[in-house]
Amino acid sequence: MERIYNFSAGPSMLPLPVLEQAQKEMTNYKGSGMSVMELSHRSGWFKEIIEGAEQGLRDLMQIPDNYKVLFLQGGASQQFAMVPMNLLGSKKKVDYVNTGSWSKKAMKEAERFADVNVIASSEEENFTYIPEVTKDMIDPEAAYVHITTNNTIEGTAFGTIPDTGDVPLVADMSSNILSEEIDVSKFGIIYAGAQKNIGPAGLTVVIIREDLIGHAGEDVPAMLNYKTHSDAGSLYNTPPSFAIYMAKLVFEYIQGLGGLKEMEKQNREKAALLYETVEASDLFTSPVREDSRSIMNVPFVSPSAETDAAFLEEAKKKGLETLKGHRSVGGMRASIYNAMPREGVEALVSFMKEFEQEHK
Ligand code: PMP
Repeated sequence: MERIYNFSAGPSMLPLPVLEQAQKEMTNYKGSGMSVMELSHRSGWFKEIIEGAEQGLRDLMQIPDNYKVLFLQGGASQQFAMVPMNLLGSKKKVDYVNTGSWSKKAMKEAERFADVNVIASSEEENFTYIPEVTKDMIDPEAAYVHITTNNTIEGTAFGTIPDTGDVPLVADMSSNILSEEIDVSKFGIIYAGAQKNIGPAGLTVVIIREDLIGHAGEDVPAMLNYKTHSDAGSLYNTPPSFAIYMAKLVFEYIQGLGGLKEMEKQNREKAALLYETVEASDLFTSPVREDSRSIMNVPFVSPSAETDAAFLEEAKKKGLETLKGHRSVGGMRASIYNAMPREGVEALVSFMKEFEQEHK
């Protein structure tokens, strides 16, 4: 059975060389006589893996020394709660930019702990664009400003990162971390579920400026306190060890390609190919405003639900899978994360053209 082109929004494709390396090391990791899954997380073998993973991420993203890298669990969804639980301190208010379903879920969790102020939103236009965020919109008394840099379901992304001045900027980067070069120093916290551009599900990466650690109240459980994990080097309890190992391999793989500069170049080319095809088409349209388009998740629609269904069915026969849009928006969505090869996007656009000829 051949591998398919998997356009899933996550978990999604992993680079084949990474899967092959993991396969090679599966039953006997570097002469340990064990799989990584069987290694003690306190062993020297694993110490090398987790330290290597951290260094790999630091090198790729050029993370400044005053930031900690934490390897946690609970998904990005747990960060929706951990962020307010850890950052509020004596403050009561938090600012959120509402750009889609995931922003809304983040806000809902924050409401348990704080007064949530929506400083900008595109909800009235079905989240089809990224609203402008300027410094004067930000409450200087807010504990932080939260944004979702890439909106996985709606297919939008921030083109420029807002300047929030002295108020820490917190970003859910689940669906575009490692897809392009970013300046980490603009953020107080960056968090991401691993299952798109980093590795297998089960690992959550948090990059946090040191001065934001240690403000959780006494009532915050140890597992939900950034300080616990920071003090313990992400080894307070058993970490998702195999996922961390896979992440390390992915980081090394991206570095080998030429780092985030090269990754971004490839991603922009893949996305351009797809958007150009949609633009040139008389059948497919993009629901997203041009200046707000994501290079990771590309939604497109045909004129009817029946045509969408026919497209999805025929695409599957060609090995182009998981192209169905999120149930909340319908249509199609091609998630073209780092590990989607250019050939996959080429196969998709050539099928789109073929399908259009037949369904004019
Ligand atoms: N935020 C964004 C932008 C996402 O795409 C997702 C998952 N698709 C989540 C949060 C939720 O992540 P998790 O399933 O890791 O909790």
